[in-house]
Amino acid sequence: MTETLIFTNPATGDVFGEVEMSTPETVQKAVDDMRKAFPDWSKKSVSERSRILRKFQQVLIEERDEISRVLNQDCGKSRQDGLIELFVAVDMLAQYRWNAAKWLKRKRVSSGLYLFKRCYVEHRSHGVVAIVSPWNYPLTLSLPPMLAALLAGNTVVLKPSEVTPATGVLVEKLFTKVPELAKFVRVVHGDGKVGAALVNARPDYIFMTGSTATGKKIMKAAAENLTPVALELGGKDAMIVLDDADLHAAARWGAWGAFFNTGQTCMSVERVYVVESKYDEFVKLAVQQANEFKSGYSTELDSPYFMGPVTDPRQVNVIEGHLEDALAKGARVLTGKKEQGLFYSPMVVVDVDHSMKLMRDETFGPIMPIMKVRDEEEAIQLANDSAYGLGASIWSSDAKRAWQVAGRVEAASVIINDSIAQFGVPMLPFGGTKDSGFGRTHGEDGLMQFTRPYSYATGGAPVKWDIATILRENGHYNLATAIMGVVYGTTLRQKWETLSQFLQKKN
Ligand code: NAD
Repeated sequence: MTETLIFTNPATGDVFGEVEMSTPETVQKAVDDMRKAFPDWSKKSVSERSRILRKFQQVLIEERDEISRVLNQDCGKSRQDGLIELFVAVDMLAQYRWNAAKWLKRKRVSSGLYLFKRCYVEHRSHGVVAIVSPWNYPLTLSLPPMLAALLAGNTVVLKPSEVTPATGVLVEKLFTKVPELAKFVRVVHGDGKVGAALVNARPDYIFMTGSTATGKKIMKAAAENLTPVALELGGKDAMIVLDDADLHAAARWGAWGAFFNTGQTCMSVERVYVVESKYDEFVKLAVQQANEFKSGYSTELDSPYFMGPVTDPRQVNVIEGHLEDALAKGARVLTGKKEQGLFYSPMVVVDVDHSMKLMRDETFGPIMPIMKVRDEEEAIQLANDSAYGLGASIWSSDAKRAWQVAGRVEAASVIINDSIAQFGVPMLPFGGTKDSGFGRTHGEDGLMQFTRPYSYATGGAPVKWDIATILRENGHYNLATAIMGVVYGTTLRQKWETLSQFLQKKN
């Protein structure tokens, strides 16, 4: 019996469609089809692939209202937040198209001691790339890796999240609008079982965005076939407010980062550390700002609401669990609460410490916990007291000091005097360290991960006078020693000693 995924609007509970789940056989067929299609796509020049992807860029812009409409229904986010997802994807595609030919070009490298050879590195695509994506930004976290993989010459199979299946169907439909491209992309629909079937179907590379627990399962399964993986996992991003920070801006944009997308952002503001001299004032401003963010749902292009519902109903248990644990250990809620259905009003929580899940585990909800710290040192130490290492934000009016703190924070993506915005900069590679995973999306690294370097050494038959040719012939131990010493000796004395030993032995 075939299973179906029902499209449910988390804001209203309305059912607005369904899609059949892919079976293990259809998943395998998708991978096999893409493997067959791969030679046709990979042999096209980068500029030809870019020309075809330009048509897709055009489609994305033409379909903007439909895209924001589906995201609004599927996630409960505002139409403008839906458009922001598309904006990031379009911006990324445009930048990739402008840069791909330069990045993917065959490059000449030094031939070392082989003076008569010419050496090159060429980046070739992997083959079939599997993309497994989450529900919090179902478009932004699917399209950029898909488009980077395609531009680099791979064919792609996407497995979107079962929590936002309508967006998966939409992505599939968008590709059909460019028939030249649709032949090289497949979308399989379903839950974790379908994701696992995709991993087992032996794609040539897996790019997964999701939780750390799922990332570990995927890496384990991929190891069976030695399939390389890139894992973009969870985070518990720290925001540090130093004594010379612009407190109004820090409270305004810190709260924005904590509550944007209802706090369901992997790199957001998940915990805040404020030095004690500025703590009271910062808390007051953060509460004021939180109270200005209204939650609710509208299908209009311009919504009066900043926060939609929690998208995945299961997430409410996590949020409530973290809250209960924190309250039992002495935390206080200064503003915000659970509202009707899956809605919350933004919550600011104080008197928190690192014994609480709220400060250690990923909450992924509309809570901004704020902790008082003695000084900069304690802020850095607490920021690093985490299993995760995705993002961090530092607030200070002294650029040099902020840079120093940024350099000591164990997070792979740091922003100074703002929050989240670095994710939207196409040229900045984004990813994690520690339990936040590895691999990068965006920027040159985000595209080049979908290739592997191949090496070429060219020229005629070995030339007698090449140093390396001489070394390959028997009877040259002393000569080899002299060459090593003269070329690589680290002092004049070492160079001279090896040379003079050689000359003595020769005589
Ligand atoms: P999830 O791990 O539950 O699911 C992610 C995807 O993996 C889904 O498509 C799911 O169906 C699939 N999946 C589940 N089990 C699988 C298996 N055994 N094999 C293959 N695929 C499987 O994550 P989620 O709840 O959808 O997303 C939220 C998480 O994603 C949060 O932890 C968040 O921090 C993280 N995230 C990370 C980034 C980043 O760039 N680092 C970005 C956004 C979200």
